[in-house]
Amino acid sequence: MKEIILIKYGEIILKGLNRHIFEDKLVRNIRHKVGEDAKVYKSRATLYAEPKEGVNVDELVQKIREVFGVVYVIRTAVCDKDLAVIGKTILSYVNFSAYKTFKVETKRADKSYPMQSPQISAEIGGMILEAHPRLTVDVHNPCVTVSVEIREGGAYVYAEKQKGPGGMPTGSAGKVMLLLSGGIDSPVAGYMMARRGTNMDAVHFFSPPFTSEKAKEKVLDLAKILARYTGGMRVHIVPFTEQQLQMKAKCPQEHLTILMRRMMMQIACRIAEQSGAGAVVTGESLGQVASQTLEAIGVTDACATMPCFRPLIGMDKEDIIALARKIDSYETSILPYEDCCTIFVPKHPTTKPRLDKILESEKLIDTEALIQKAIEETVHIDV
Ligand code: ATP
Ligand code: MG
Repeated sequence: MKEIILIKYGEIILKGLNRHIFEDKLVRNIRHKVGEDAKVYKSRATLYAEPKEGVNVDELVQKIREVFGVVYVIRTAVCDKDLAVIGKTILSYVNFSAYKTFKVETKRADKSYPMQSPQISAEIGGMILEAHPRLTVDVHNPCVTVSVEIREGGAYVYAEKQKGPGGMPTGSAGKVMLLLSGGIDSPVAGYMMARRGTNMDAVHFFSPPFTSEKAKEKVLDLAKILARYTGGMRVHIVPFTEQQLQMKAKCPQEHLTILMRRMMMQIACRIAEQSGAGAVVTGESLGQVASQTLEAIGVTDACATMPCFRPLIGMDKEDIIALARKIDSYETSILPYEDCCTIFVPKHPTTKPRLDKILESEKLIDTEALIQKAIEETVHIDV
C-alpha cells in the first residue's frame, strides 16, 4: 500500500504576507531532518513527505515529530478514488478494534468527482459498520475520526494524528545565547526558546580545579541533547576561577552570589554580541533561590547590554522537571557533578540586594580586566 505523510502546521498560517518565508523554512528544516529518506514538498496549507522505497515509515514519522513548527503528523494511505477501493483501504489501514464509535469526514478537493462529500462519508460509514457491526457512529464525540480526502492524484485516507512539538521553525526568530549550567533548568529554558524558532549558542562558566572535567563533559552532553532540537550549537566555555577567587578575597561575602551573576551576565552579553545573538537566556524561575528574587534579578539585569529572557520565570520546579524528562535532558542533568556557582556560594547570601551597595562592592575588583581575561581565555566547541 502506498503511504504518504501529511504534515500540518498551525501558527505559521497567521503570518499573512510573510507566511511563505516561514513555510519555506519549515520545509527546509524537515528536509534537513529526514535527509534522503523522503521527498518533502508543499501544496496548499499542507506539507507532504513521500517515503522512499524501503524506508521505515514509523521512524520517519518520529523524526518529523521533532521538528519545530509541526503541529500534527498524519500517516496516510493513498489509493484509487473508486469508492469500493477506498472502503477496502480504510478497513485494512485503521485498527477499528481499538474503538467503540467513529465518524467519517470527507473533503473533496477534486470537484469533478461524481459524489458529494456527505454522500461519500455515508457510503464509507456503511462499509465500516458492515465489517464491524459492534461499532456505532457518533458524529459529535467519536473515538476515532476517519478522514477521506479526494484529490486529483487519488484518495487519501487516515485516522490517527500524531502531535508534533508546535512552535516556530528553527531559524525564523534570530539567535540567542543560552547560559547553560549543568542543572535541570537551563536546558529546559533553551528548549523553550528553540521551540519559538531561535538559533542558539551556549555559554558555560567553569572553575577548575574546583569543578571537574566530568562536570564540563556533562554540560557538553546537555548541549548535544539540545542540539538535536536546534540542529547544532556552539558552546563557549569560559574559565571563571580567577574571577571568583578575586571576588571571594576582596568583596563582602553576602554579595558574592549577586556579584558573580552580574559578571556572568556581562561576559555572556559580550560573547553574545560577538556571535551575532540578540538576547541572552537563563533558566531562572522567580523565587527559586537567593539569586532569583525580584530584587536580585533587577540588580543582575542592570548590567545586561541586551534583553535577557527567562522563559521559566513563572514555572514551578515540578513543571520544569516534567519538561526536562520530555526533552530527554533530565537524566543527564541529575548526574552529581558540582557547578561553579554552588562552590563559591556564601552562607548567607543577600536576597534583597540594592544596586548602589552592589556597585560599591564591585568597585573593589577590576571588573573590566576580569571580563576581558575571561573572554580571551574562552574556548569554543561545536557540538
Ligand atoms: P540550573 O538548574 O539551570 O542550573 P539553578 O536552579 O541551579 O539553575 P542557578 O544556579 O542560580 O539556578 O542558575 C540560574 C541560571 O544561571 C541557570 O539556569 C543558568 O541559565 C545560569 N547559570 C548558572 N550557572 C551557570 C554556569 N556555570 N554556566 C552558565 N550559566 C550558568
Ligand atoms: Mg545551577
